[in-house]
Order: sequence, then C-alpha cells, then structure tokens
Amino acid sequence: MNELKHEIAAMIAHDGPMTLEQYMALCLSHPRFGYYMSRDPFGAAGDFITAPEISQMFGELIGVWATEAWRLSNSPLSSQLIELGPGRGTLMADALRVARISPEFLDAITVALVETSPVLRDAQRETLSSATAQVDWYDHFFQIPQGPAFIIANEFFDALPVRHYVKTVAGWRERLVGLDSSGALTFGLSEKIEAGLSLTAREGSIIEICPAAQSLIADIAQRLVVQGGVCLVIDYGYTQTSLGDSLQAVAHHSYADPLDAPGDADLTTHVDFAALARAAHSRGAKILGPVTQGYFLQQLGIERRAEALARKATPEQSDEIFAALDRLTGSSDSRYCMGDLFKVMAIAHPDTPDLPGFFE
Ligand code: SAH
Repeated sequence: MNELKHEIAAMIAHDGPMTLEQYMALCLSHPRFGYYMSRDPFGAAGDFITAPEISQMFGELIGVWATEAWRLSNSPLSSQLIELGPGRGTLMADALRVARISPEFLDAITVALVETSPVLRDAQRETLSSATAQVDWYDHFFQIPQGPAFIIANEFFDALPVRHYVKTVAGWRERLVGLDSSGALTFGLSEKIEAGLSLTAREGSIIEICPAAQSLIADIAQRLVVQGGVCLVIDYGYTQTSLGDSLQAVAHHSYADPLDAPGDADLTTHVDFAALARAAHSRGAKILGPVTQGYFLQQLGIERRAEALARKATPEQSDEIFAALDRLTGSSDSRYCMGDLFKVMAIAHPDTPDLPGFFE
C-alpha cells in the first residue's frame, strides 16, 4: 500500500466513506503525496504528453491568438496574461516569444500563473527564465490583481475533481469511496437519495458533474464581464451534456485502476463544455465555440506555420514537424490524434467581436 492509500484508508476508517470528489482531490492535490504535487508527469518518460510538449507551434499560435484577442479588446493597458495550470511553462514560453512581434502587447501585460505544485512552479521558473515580461505565481485564480484578463487553460479543467451520481431503483445516489471487509479501497453508494436530481434514466446510469470547474468558470466569467478580457479553454471533452462516467486513471501512458495507487496515477475526466458554457453564460459572458482543436488550429494557420518551420529544418526535423501537425489537428486515431477529441471554447466580455479560430 502506498502512503496516500494508508492515509485515505485511515480517514475512511475514522470518518466513514468519502465522496469521489474528495478522493480525487486528495489523489491530485494532497500536499505531500498528490499526483501533481510531487512530480513532473509530462513527456515520453512521464505519464502523458500535452499539445505544447508535442510542438512549439501550439504555444506560438496561442500566443498570436492572445495578442489578437487583446488588440480586438481595444488594447487595454495594465492587463493580466493568465495561465491556469501551466505544466512545464512551455506554452507560455512559446507564446511570449512570438508576442515579441507586438511590443505594445508585452508592455501592457503582466504574466500570472496559477499553479499549486511546487515541482511544476520550479519547472515553469526555469522555462520562463529568459522571458522579458514580469511573471507572478498564484495558488488561486481569485488572488490575481484586478484588470482586463487574457486567460489560457490547456488541459486544466480535466484535472478538477468530479462527483458521480448513480441511478438505483430507489433514486440517485452519490458514488463514494469506502473500505471492503479486507480493508481495501472500494467504490460504493451513499445511503442518501439525491432529491434534487429529477432526470429520468435507466438504472445504472451515471451523472458526472464537476462543481469546481463550474464555480471557477462562473468566477472567470464574472471577472471578464466586469473588467474585460477573454478566456480560452482547450481540453478533451464533449459539447453536449450527457449521461456517463469519463473518469480515467493514467500512469506511464496506459490506463490504470483509479483506486489502485492513489497519487501515483493521473486522474482525469472529459470536460463537459456545455456545462461550462451555461455557467459562464449565466454571468453574462459571451461564448465562442466550442470548435474542435483541429479546426481552431487550422483557422489560426498551423499548416503555414509548419511549412515555414520545415523550410529551415533538416529532413528528419521536417518529418517531426508534420507528424506533430497531424497529431495536433488530425482525427484518424483518437488515441493518438487530438484534432477531434480536443475542443476549444472562448468566454469573453459581451462586447468582444468575433475572434480568430472560431469562424470561417
Ligand atoms: N497546461 C499544461 C499542463 C496541464 S496538466 C500543458 O498543457 O502541458 C494540469 C496542470 O494544472 C498542472 O500544471 C497541474 O499542476 C495544475 N493543476 C492541477 N490542479 C490544479 C489546481 N487545483 N490549481 C492550480 N493548478 C492545478
């Protein structure tokens, strides 16, 4: 048993079963043993690889997009360029490098990174050591100083803890994590019936909701409506709210049992973009998309960017550039290609005009 499993088993023995949401939060963010708190999970040797780690083109195009979003918001001075969950800092480094072509943008922004992991903060500091912009770190979004905000969140919302409700004969019950007779972690259901859920569904159906994502997106929308700006959300997910469970544990590039080694595997779910859009819309924000990542990057000119990079590259490098292009935008194999599975949505101040990437 790993140390976090011991700790969770002791908590359950003492206080009774915990919700899936509490379990997931401990697995990901426990101060000592949480998945993100103690390691750098990215890259070929890690557990998974993200778009900015696949190719510099991704962060560069997001950088151009952010500059354009800022310009189309009337180029406000004293703006915050915010990234939620910046990983190794690769996206921000690539974005700030291309932003040098817009010195007025760089002069107007302060970079704010929201990151809870000390290991990844160190990695971000290192990656951004040659950046000319001022960079500040925060534990929470609400701590960032006021001002128009241009916010990027790539593969951030999928890492927030979810709740599951399961339909039984008697009604909807919440999924809990408890102990079996041998003392091992096991899934179970609450005694209590959730009175608020009136959805008709077959027995065994599951509702998955992410209260943390919905309340954060509502806070972001509120801020954008009052102070101006735009938030770009990129993640794997679906565009219509539907029944079903998307919880996955991933370790060393393959699926694992979510109860097996808490804190040692990444726990994620697919993002419900429709639920995020509803939460943002209820605060008066404008919603653009969601569109697929493949469409978004093509609209931003990723093919021209790949060709430009390939012209200066060796034949092997050129092969890598086009393989990365296919991986970021293609849809042939969804375990490998991100083009269709990943979606892009923007939340904006209501006066924001149509932004690049979302329209013909
Ligand atoms: N955007 C990066 C990393 C994605 S992984 C990339 O595309 O490569 C998720 C990131 O979110 C990590 O940096 C992780 O440490 C951070 N994170 C996860 N939960 C968080 C939380 N509740 N608050 C702040 N950061 C969090």
